[in-house]
Amino acid sequence: MSDMETVFGPVPSRRLGRSLGIIHIPTKHCGYSCRYCQVGPTPQPEIVRHAFHAPEVLCRAVAERLRLLRARGEAVDYLTLAPDGEPTLDIHLGQLIDGLRPLGLPIAVISNATLIWHEDVRGELARADWVSLKVDSVDSATWRALNRPHPSLKLAAILDGIRLFAADYRGTLVSETMLVAGVNDDATGVEAVADFLAQAGIRQACLSLPRRPPADPLLSCPDEAVVTRARHAFAQRLERVELLAAHAGKAAPALDAPR
Ligand code: SF4
Repeated sequence: MSDMETVFGPVPSRRLGRSLGIIHIPTKHCGYSCRYCQVGPTPQPEIVRHAFHAPEVLCRAVAERLRLLRARGEAVDYLTLAPDGEPTLDIHLGQLIDGLRPLGLPIAVISNATLIWHEDVRGELARADWVSLKVDSVDSATWRALNRPHPSLKLAAILDGIRLFAADYRGTLVSETMLVAGVNDDATGVEAVADFLAQAGIRQACLSLPRRPPADPLLSCPDEAVVTRARHAFAQRLERVELLAAHAGKAAPALDAPR
């Protein structure tokens, strides 16, 4: 395995500056098969954590890339775990974060939150400095239609896990919500998501739009008035709201993609 396969960037990220992306699991292991995912449908959504790449091999690859970048005078602001799938499926996630720590850079994880109902997942995520969690809807039917979760997943358990994580986490916690026309962009649904985030104590949120070709070509971006209304609903309840002119799913080259 070469570092070219597991480390990419640094790439510019609005939220993380110059981010070095780490692909610690292969495409596409995910508990969701989001209709907007740019990587395409998930062949078999999964929720059982297991081992992928060895953390020590990944850490060596990242250290080597950093050495080369520093020799060229290139700065890196964040190390970001951003595979084309769900980072918490990696059973060595905590070990990987600990192994990267000596490199002296803050560590970010972009998660879809599918496994946050596991106490051990919350504990491992808590070791990162910056965590993003996906919340597209708090309505079960909408969530099933949009995120197409593994059949065993339960939205209530995920939302409880997010609440528990937010209550204890000491790093920077942000949420990501993809707005899709006619699916989850209605005023009531958007306000319910914003209410949930506010009640969970999440202060920073990102709204994203499916501007690049998604897995489902029938999906479209909400119109400007709807996006403005959604942004306003979030801003009324949360301290900081960003609108990412984002794509979906694919990590490279941008790191602002909702996972
Ligand atoms: S957008 Fe992210 S969470 Fe959704 S299927 Fe793609 S990789 Fe998984």
